[in-house]
Amino acid sequence: MPFSFANVDGRACLVEDDSYFDLERISQGSISADPMQAIARNTEFHELAASLGSHESDGVVSETRLRAPVPRPRNSFGVGLNYKDHAEESKMDLPKVPVVFTKYPSCIAGPYDAVLLRGDSNDYEAELVVVIGQTTRDVAYDQAWSHVAGLTIGQDVSDRALQLAARPAHFGLGKSRDTYGPTGPVLVSPDNFDDPNDLSITCDINGERRQDARTSSLIFDVPFLVSYLSEIMTLEAGDLIFTGTPAGVGMPDKRFLKAGDVIRTTVGGIGAMENTCQ
Ligand code: ZN
Repeated sequence: MPFSFANVDGRACLVEDDSYFDLERISQGSISADPMQAIARNTEFHELAASLGSHESDGVVSETRLRAPVPRPRNSFGVGLNYKDHAEESKMDLPKVPVVFTKYPSCIAGPYDAVLLRGDSNDYEAELVVVIGQTTRDVAYDQAWSHVAGLTIGQDVSDRALQLAARPAHFGLGKSRDTYGPTGPVLVSPDNFDDPNDLSITCDINGERRQDARTSSLIFDVPFLVSYLSEIMTLEAGDLIFTGTPAGVGMPDKRFLKAGDVIRTTVGGIGAMENTCQ
């Protein structure tokens, strides 16, 4: 049974339609209310999701109460230049191995949180985000999806001036200012999707469509990234992988974010995030 997981006011919950169910309550205390501890138990969520009909809900999900589904990831990776059209608009060669950087966990924010801009060259990047489900070391490509707890939406907000201030570029700092990593609104298990390797992804700025692509265009797809990273280091439940952004970012035309801009990011089958710039 597929599940949809959310962080409602700091508590781990399952979501069905518009209702949420507190995991600590419906598991009779077996699963922690803390989202990070709860996510490590994600394999049990499938059975619990099937039982939701026998529980009262804790209420209706409201956007203002949703926090990042994975609020304190141990590791958080970003992947650069992972769509051919984005590599071209960035005037960069196609990578032969994934271009991986650190999106420092302290930048993670919620699906409706404000993005607190610094400087005047900030850009949006709609991304599919992978959440690792278990301790993962040297996993084969064919087995990689079974190590994924689920998928969520992310914005890899990027301070381009800071990113390019050093040579070689320090992606990690440029993409990790406080609040520059909105994620959510929910974490959806892979079995929710007909094909988790082919999802629509969009980004609108103030209602204007800027990015519109499918994750089937990823150069290095989700199982490849999980397998590749797991050969380098052990992955743990709750680790995040921001998988890269398609064409349409603001940098080529210097259409940078400004205070008051509303960033709306969607991934098919997951939902939408909306973040206002301040
Ligand atoms: Zn990115």
